[in-house]
Amino acid sequence: MLGKMMTQPLTISSLIEHAGKYHAGTTVASVETTGDVEHTTWGNVASNARKLAAALDKLGLKPGTRCGTIAWNNRRHLEIYFGVAGAGYVCHTLNPRLKPEQLIYIINHAEDEVLFIDATFVPAVAQLRAHLPKLRHVVLMGPEDAEAAAQIDGLLFYDSLLAAESGDHSWPDLDENAPSSLCYTSGTTGNPKGVLYTHRSTVLHSLGGNQPDGLALAARDSVMAVVPMFHVNAWGVPYITAAVGAKLVLPGPNLDGESLVRLIDAEEVTIALGVPTIWMGLLQALKATGSTVPSLERTVVGGSALPTVMIPTFRDTYGVELIHAWGMTETSPLGTLNQLLQKHHALSDAEKGAIREGQGRPPFGVELRIVDETGAALPEDGKTQGELQVRGHWIVDTYFGQEQPALTEDGWFDTGDVATIDADGYMIIRDRSKDIIKSGGEWISTVELEDIAMSHPGVAQAAAIAARHPKWDERPVLIAVKSDDTLTEVELLKHYDGRVASWQVPDAVVFVGALPLGGTGKVQKNKLRESYGDMLL
Ligand code: ADP
Repeated sequence: MLGKMMTQPLTISSLIEHAGKYHAGTTVASVETTGDVEHTTWGNVASNARKLAAALDKLGLKPGTRCGTIAWNNRRHLEIYFGVAGAGYVCHTLNPRLKPEQLIYIINHAEDEVLFIDATFVPAVAQLRAHLPKLRHVVLMGPEDAEAAAQIDGLLFYDSLLAAESGDHSWPDLDENAPSSLCYTSGTTGNPKGVLYTHRSTVLHSLGGNQPDGLALAARDSVMAVVPMFHVNAWGVPYITAAVGAKLVLPGPNLDGESLVRLIDAEEVTIALGVPTIWMGLLQALKATGSTVPSLERTVVGGSALPTVMIPTFRDTYGVELIHAWGMTETSPLGTLNQLLQKHHALSDAEKGAIREGQGRPPFGVELRIVDETGAALPEDGKTQGELQVRGHWIVDTYFGQEQPALTEDGWFDTGDVATIDADGYMIIRDRSKDIIKSGGEWISTVELEDIAMSHPGVAQAAAIAARHPKWDERPVLIAVKSDDTLTEVELLKHYDGRVASWQVPDAVVFVGALPLGGTGKVQKNKLRESYGDMLL
């Protein structure tokens, strides 16, 4: 016997319909490619998404057709998220910081037939076009532009496509397991692989990831998504803000600290989300501008390890709570978020801060485990380190275009991260399995060595790598960027005294002008290993 309740498919169109109906007057603020700030509403975004769906239908696309985007966080990109997926096509977000050959590889692998681009990328796409045999239409995200039209044959204009539609288009009935969006991993550990999300996984991610101990975005919030819309669905923020009807602030192309401070103050942002390097830039800008960002209550930090010094700085100087989160392209991305439990109430700020340095606990919908190299589960005692595996409603099953599932025999996804989990389910990423340093059979966490280096006031950025060693196999070497010219190797190594065991202290420090960063702003440790991996031999 089955129960007797309505069954409605969990679709992305249902999210935007809700925002358009119950939050029609709520603001969406968008920094355009020109730098102007445009204000619109969820009502207009919903109407434009329907117009876009109608316009795409007229192009004669088949269900599931991939429509790429090369764009900043802005209002049209938001409409594309909903219009493309709602119409039954797949919104494939591309990272504009990738090299041309990587973009060509990914666009061809995804077989994108439509490509939406911001004006910034017209010259780059004009160069790529000849290498993209499946691409049928390029759409400039803006009004008619003769200069752009001269560069790309047959260029279509987003505003003109929408102007021809009435906005009364109704969404098709879709299977909730139909594909909705596609995102490729940033490929820091190999060739980029596509993760094809479903309507169902996206809606469940929005609901599960936004519980009170998750992102907890609400209609009373002004939410700034600094995390790019081209990287893992901007952590689900576009969908979640539609579901709850929050004010949404999209910062466009300028992500430097001063631009963000101005936008936070002007749009009274209460919560902002982004990677640690963004918040380092923001802290510097706050010092320089003297703003205290009075509206800002919380920031969510993830994508790479949070430098622990940031927690007290944000808390004590600006009254901002930092929420550390972990996830990956394969996990939609929200896998864990760090919030306290009722039993932690009586702890001091410092004790609470220490708990919150880790990556946190999984929300309902995600399960974690750590295993050894044979796949056997390891104790969750907060000490034992193992390979982190995950399963749940919004975790990848099979990569796009592959036949074999990406899972273990018993149905878990291996993250490639090394972690500990404690009895309360708090998880701490100790390293990536490819980065961890194996010295004489013992493991040394590069994350910990970097965090200690970053807590020295003379260090702006640091990365620890394994250098090959004749006796110990591997030994740690620290590559650092100074913020104080007078800092010496001896002084920096002394900073490790008492903070780690003596055998974990790096063997050497190399000071460099800048660290090599990949497309999503993460340090490319493989490049550092190529340059410095043999320096101890
Ligand atoms: P890629 O794997 O190509 O770098 P992702 O953006 O999917 O692309 O990165 C996911 C990885 O980023 C995780 O497996 C983990 O190693 C790292 N990561 C994400 N969030 C955190 C965090 N809060 N702390 C430490 N590492 C993190």
